[in-house]
Amino acid sequence: MTEREQADRYIQVIIDRVSDAVDRPFQYRMPRGLCAAPQVGMQVLVPFRSGKINAFVVGIQREPDVQDTKDVLCVLEHEPALSPEMIALSYWLSRRFFLRWSEAIHLCLPPARNKVKKKFVERVFPAVDQETLREEAVRIKPRASRQALILEFLAAAREGLDWPGLRQKTGADRRSLLALRERGLLEIRSQSAERSPWARDLDGTKHEAGFRLTEEQQRALEKIEQALDHSSQDILLHGITGSGKTELYFLAMERVLRQGKQAIFLVPEIALTPHMITLLRERFPGQVGMLHSGLTPGERFDQWWKIKERKVNIVLGSRSAIFAPLGALGLIVMDEEHENTYRQDDSPRYHARDVARWRARHHGALLLLGSATPSLETYAESLRGTVKMLKLRERVPGRFLPSVEVVDMRQEFGARPRSVFSQRLYESVKQTLAAGEQVILFLNRRGFAGVELCRRCGFVVECPYCSVSLTYHSFPEHLQCHYCTFKREPYRECPRCRSLSIGNFGLGTQKLEKQVKEAFPQAGVIRLDSDVTSARGVHEKVWRTFKENQASILIGTQMIAKGHDFPGVTLVGVIAADINLHLPDFRAGEKTFQLLTQVSGRAGRGEKRGKVIVQTFSPEHYSIRAALDQDYSQFIREEARRRRLLHYPPYTDLLILGCSARQEEKALAAAEGLSLQLAGRLAEGEELLGPSPAPIKRVKGFYRYHVLYKGDHVQAKNQLLRETIWNYRRGLTGEVRVTVDFNPLMML
Ligand code: ADP
Ligand code: ZN
Ligand code: ZN
Repeated sequence: MTEREQADRYIQVIIDRVSDAVDRPFQYRMPRGLCAAPQVGMQVLVPFRSGKINAFVVGIQREPDVQDTKDVLCVLEHEPALSPEMIALSYWLSRRFFLRWSEAIHLCLPPARNKVKKKFVERVFPAVDQETLREEAVRIKPRASRQALILEFLAAAREGLDWPGLRQKTGADRRSLLALRERGLLEIRSQSAERSPWARDLDGTKHEAGFRLTEEQQRALEKIEQALDHSSQDILLHGITGSGKTELYFLAMERVLRQGKQAIFLVPEIALTPHMITLLRERFPGQVGMLHSGLTPGERFDQWWKIKERKVNIVLGSRSAIFAPLGALGLIVMDEEHENTYRQDDSPRYHARDVARWRARHHGALLLLGSATPSLETYAESLRGTVKMLKLRERVPGRFLPSVEVVDMRQEFGARPRSVFSQRLYESVKQTLAAGEQVILFLNRRGFAGVELCRRCGFVVECPYCSVSLTYHSFPEHLQCHYCTFKREPYRECPRCRSLSIGNFGLGTQKLEKQVKEAFPQAGVIRLDSDVTSARGVHEKVWRTFKENQASILIGTQMIAKGHDFPGVTLVGVIAADINLHLPDFRAGEKTFQLLTQVSGRAGRGEKRGKVIVQTFSPEHYSIRAALDQDYSQFIREEARRRRLLHYPPYTDLLILGCSARQEEKALAAAEGLSLQLAGRLAEGEELLGPSPAPIKRVKGFYRYHVLYKGDHVQAKNQLLRETIWNYRRGLTGEVRVTVDFNPLMML
């Protein structure tokens, strides 16, 4: 060893604790002679204050920057679970999304690592050839029948057998096994066993293959292949529902694998895509790992290590799979890139698309986004040239776009004030059922509750300053804007049409179910929403029931808008298209357009042309009109114009600071204090709004207040804002919590 290598090293660590006070690197000495050489990503145990604590190595240097560094106590792993890439990623993530660095590191660690360990199983292998095993079995059978059985099974199997399984099949005990080993007939080895998540998810359908790509698909594929060979740009596959995007993802993955590289395939929610899982495994047998929250902790842990050890080359998963520890990434596919589920809304908050972009750059890999209704964020990137947009305008052969009609509910209101059905929808459901076909009825429950709506003219009360709807509160009765602090009395009569039918309008899927059952007593009706599906497996059961045509009407929330194919469905009814428009959220228009487009995509997946009937109180709204015309560019241009005009992301950055406490005054006081601090950081052209009560003001006993910071260069002054918030938060007592949310998707 050279002199230099023998010298002490100094490491920088991040303490494994979520705290503003320790959210910075600390230096320690790695004395020479400690069992392992320091590596970035390694976990170590260090003395801290009066105790010991785990920490992550984030840097190594030869000379200390500070006097009196303490010594590392021990190294906790020889093979670091975290690669240097992950340390770099976690640093970047912590800055971009205003996280503590240790929170960001935790996103990259193996899941459930403190709860489960690797599982080992004993496996039995033959130590002699098959012939000998069989002869021996025959010889000992009369006096040791169970031992003989073991030998027979072993002779029949080409590879080793799990001991627990073998014990069950033969009824033999451990003594018999050891006796056979004693005689040199077999060997026992301990091997790591994989807790496999696959068995549960197969949906059993076989899938067609071997079609010819359409011309559009072929052109898109060429562009994707070029990008794979020397990528510098992300690609957005903008293809209508049923245009055959999946096949292109698969072909891209095949190419990447041939290049000796690996791929991540992200989907919005695994439970909604059992057919995707089946397809992928059929196409890439033995190559696919899976990471998502539906797995048991043991399964997740095993999958993570399998990926880390390079035993698979494709990782399928939801949001968190973007942190999969693949070392040779060539491609990241993000299907339905506009979906909300890609954004984590609890701390640590992040958006998987941003992480995907970072990792793609880091590896020189291609980021391939796909959607029928790309997010405004991605659309804006495509105008800027950072994302290349490829269009698929047609459905694949044999699939037709549905016809879409709109029903103006304001006109129905006089005739049938209590019914959720318009005459038109009611008649169509009746006809569809009579023809033996299936119906989906779609209702997003959130939204209307808490909004003042005129049922006669569709008027909804909005904030004059923020262009979001005001929320109704009953005690004391008032309407309030949850962006700024604007407040007013509820209307007794509609300011637009003078009708008295203005009021708090509530309608949920359960009430809808009741009305549907009354209207169509003969039909089998099932309902699917998050109330029904919280238990594991329920989801799949409902799907299967409907797919096998054991029910003819499916009622559900946005959950049913996604993923699945139901060839028997020829009618989709949207009960209240404007329901999402009235969330107090600047993305309400975008969400409405996306949902309506997706719901419409559910109709006509089979051979028959489908029909979509959309009921609405505001047929003239631009998101609804564009969805009815199935015209993305009409929609996105208007949406971009409005968002730019009103100063919302992606045309500006938005930082939402949430203060919560059990006592309302404390939450408010904290928000006021923080607002004051931030006011001192405000530059020209930036805005500070609030404090105002959060749209859902009280959650689990905590009152919540928001402060909004809007500016074009939030990231450029990241460090300044971060220090301001961190310092303020450190000074608060434990009762008040302060969260930071950068460019959130939802404002609730
Ligand atoms: P989407 O663009 O909505 O994701 P899919 O990828 O799910 O569409 O494709 C819809 C269906 O069309 C799938 O069953 C797929 O196997 C099939 N498909 C894809 N490409 C072709 C093609 N060129 N010819 C015939 N069928 C195709
Ligand atoms: Zn009115
Ligand atoms: Zn307002």
